[in-house]
Amino acid sequence: MTLTQNKVVTFNYTLKDEEGNTLDSTVNAAPFSFLSGMGQILPKLEEAITGMLLGTRKNVKISAAEAYGEYNEGAVQQVDRTNFPKDADLQPGMQFMANSPDGNQMPFIISEVKDDNIKIDFNHPLAGKNLEFDVELLDIRDATSEELAHGHVHGPGGHHH
Ligand SMILES: [Zn+2]
Repeated sequence: MTLTQNKVVTFNYTLKDEEGNTLDSTVNAAPFSFLSGMGQILPKLEEAITGMLLGTRKNVKISAAEAYGEYNEGAVQQVDRTNFPKDADLQPGMQFMANSPDGNQMPFIISEVKDDNIKIDFNHPLAGKNLEFDVELLDIRDATSEELAHGHVHGPGGHHH
């Protein structure tokens, strides 16, 4: 359940995996802002953050299942190089978009290149990882009607039109 609706929530975070490796961080970057109650961040993270007091810090652990899901071997496929643009210099780690039969964009990552056999992975890069967020809540304010209409945050940490 989300306690806070239609707020712009701004926070700093450092994201680590179980081994303590930093995966992502707002340190040395702009704080992150999101519109509450719209599923813009992981539900478990939003639940934890909206229960915090301004200016406080919290360590939030989220299991893989509650974050980006378990790693699914079935989401890994072998495809032929002919599926890619002829002049593409395919390397592991490169990201592409595929169109699903129902017209949705599905991101995937090249995980292996062996001659003309390309292994592609539709798992989220953070799938199968238990995550740990060090969060510092900086600000909560009411969203403007324009932000609500657009469905995203404007200004620092958000969209600039
Ligand atoms: Zn906008």
